[in-house]
Amino acid sequence: MTNRRTFLFKVIPAVAAVSVLGNQAFAEPKLSADNNPAAKALGYVPDASKVDKQKYSKYENGQKCATCTNFTAINEQSGTCTMYKGFEVESNGWCNAWAKKA
Ligand code: SF4
Repeated sequence: MTNRRTFLFKVIPAVAAVSVLGNQAFAEPKLSADNNPAAKALGYVPDASKVDKQKYSKYENGQKCATCTNFTAINEQSGTCTMYKGFEVESNGWCNAWAKKA
């Protein structure tokens, strides 16, 4: 029979551990120019301050994944992008497909 002590010290930590491990198991890989040819072609960088402004002259300060219409946040640091299915992008990232979120 499960008493209150057993529940507090065994069941709750076990459920928490499964939850954390489950999230890690299903986490998408981080997008980079090295693991995705489209990201490379579109100049994706995980930090928008590192955009090659000579090559991508359309870039303007303030443009980043978090302000892009293609972005859906997972948390404050990262999210998903409709352009790169199966990958996670940084909220502060940028690529040449950036379009202002409505
Ligand atoms: S399309 Fe938008 S959200 Fe996707 S990587 Fe480029 S800037 Fe980020």
